[in-house]
Amino acid sequence: MTETFDHIVIGGGSAGCVATSRLVEGGAKVLLLEGGHHHRHPLLDMPPGVFKLLKNGSKFFKIHKTIPQPQLNGRSAEIPQGNVLGGGSTVNGQAYVRGRPSDYSEWNEILRGNNDAISWDWMDILPHFKRLEGNRKFNDDLHGCDGKLVVSDPGYIDDMARWFVQAVQAQGEPFNPDFNGKAQRGVGYFQFTYNQGQRVSAAYAFIDPLKNNPDLTLRLQSQVQRILIEGGRAIGVVYKDKSGAQHTVHADGEVILSAGALITPKLLMLSGVGPADHLQDHGLKVVEDLQGVGQNLKDHPDVSVVARANGPYGYWKQDRGWNMIRNGLEFKLFGRGKVTTTGLEAACFLNPTDPEAPPTHEAYCIPIMYLNDEQLKDIKEDYGVSIQMVLLKPKSTGEVRLASANPADMPLVNPNFLNDQRDIDEMIKGLRYFRQTMETKPLADKIDRVVAPLDYSDAGLTEHCRKVVKTNFHPSGTAKMGADGDKMAVLDARMRVRGIEGLRVCDMSAVPEIPAGNTNAPAMMLGDRCADLVMGVL
Ligand SMILES: Cc1cc2nc3c(=O)[nH]c(=O)nc-3n(C[C@H](O)[C@H](O)[C@H](O)COP(=O)(O)OP(=O)(O)OC[C@H]3O[C@@H](n4cnc5c(N)ncnc54)[C@H](O)[C@@H]3O)c2cc1C
Repeated sequence: MTETFDHIVIGGGSAGCVATSRLVEGGAKVLLLEGGHHHRHPLLDMPPGVFKLLKNGSKFFKIHKTIPQPQLNGRSAEIPQGNVLGGGSTVNGQAYVRGRPSDYSEWNEILRGNNDAISWDWMDILPHFKRLEGNRKFNDDLHGCDGKLVVSDPGYIDDMARWFVQAVQAQGEPFNPDFNGKAQRGVGYFQFTYNQGQRVSAAYAFIDPLKNNPDLTLRLQSQVQRILIEGGRAIGVVYKDKSGAQHTVHADGEVILSAGALITPKLLMLSGVGPADHLQDHGLKVVEDLQGVGQNLKDHPDVSVVARANGPYGYWKQDRGWNMIRNGLEFKLFGRGKVTTTGLEAACFLNPTDPEAPPTHEAYCIPIMYLNDEQLKDIKEDYGVSIQMVLLKPKSTGEVRLASANPADMPLVNPNFLNDQRDIDEMIKGLRYFRQTMETKPLADKIDRVVAPLDYSDAGLTEHCRKVVKTNFHPSGTAKMGADGDKMAVLDARMRVRGIEGLRVCDMSAVPEIPAGNTNAPAMMLGDRCADLVMGVL
């Protein structure tokens, strides 16, 4: 006999955990199938630990190697994704950024272009953010303080971060006390999804409190293979457990697909929902011809300016030898110090050439020399600082396609980073601006010299971008919501897969445009909103 639940959620990531929690609290019996591992691990819990795992390789990540990118001299880029309960929120840098109100107004316009779809305007989205947020500092029109997701200030601020914040102010940008406040523009310090040095992932915040609730069935290391669709309705799911045994489970209510922007389109296609010709090429039966599945891939590309410091500043070698022991003890004994920060406390949002216009760039101050393997062949690592900048609204658009009809195969990911010349032009403006930051006091007083890039001509900076551009880990948009009549819209404004009953997409795949900021908070907002839609309270 197959098991039957009210709802089945595929993927316990940022959005999936929130949706699951809301549905269970609403009284539904929910099966959450998560392909990855349990989320409790010391290196995941402490803010900087995850970067060690990322560097050394870990079962908590799935690394998508992109198809070779001709515009990046044939290079393949790597896009890591969480392979663990909590998904991205368990392995991320924990910066809590919601994007800006105009992101959501923009979505609203796209979705309501020609119909009276449900509103996605900022004032209708803000209550979702506020409900989830347990801010330790703010409690006002824009913030909630009693939600489960603890959001707090950095536990430690490195001097390098302070000098960066002061240098950008000297360049004319205002100090911004809250990037989720009245204005996005300016320089300041992030808030983070952590609580006194302990990560607050979607797993900790939303699933752990349900561990004794009989309405939640949680299965880890359970890889969904496909969604069962009969008579135009999603009725269940086929998955494999960790022993490789295959199971079929049924949903009386809905199937909610939350496997992240790179796997959600793969699972739709394996279930027969996607571009008909592509599915047929792989011998898959077409259930619904939706040309937009896997298209519209957007990600924030990042490129850094890197400098060597003239003294022992920043975080270099803080995770080794005696430094590691001292920092670890300080954390264990007093709950403070360098282990309470991810290492990227300071940031700014700005427009490098038109300061009064909406920000086009986000930049993080990373108090180490942040170099890729290629650069490390030429540049000796030392104490230093990197300003890593991100294009908030990239024009380049990529896609996700099937490599084969075998669920075990990773999809073919083509992010097309910097394929659109306008993105390179914006990167060049940013690189020149942040090189200036390195030459502005008080940061300039601590810098020996900039080591990358060295050539600031258009050609030199273009080459630098092609050599080092990478993901800022925010793939989005591959099963987008869109207005009626948009042939590339996979979802309607209620996050329902067009043409299929009982199936919604609830993760960063669903967004019509990438938000101007980091994507964990927006993903959680989508989870909360999706639950409201499933429960019929919206
Ligand atoms: C290294 C890194 C650093 C980041 N830093 C930040 C940051 O500082 N701030 C910020 O706001 N954002 C950050 N992000 C981005 C942010 O965390 C993600 O955008 C967000 O978590 C995406 O949420 P999601 O629900 O769309 O997908 P995910 O959280 O990726 O969830 C998808 C889930 O589905 C599971 N899954 C996949 N395939 C299957 C399958 N076949 N069967 C069952 N389960 C499956 C996965 O294991 C995963 O748990 C970072 C991301 C990464 C990877």
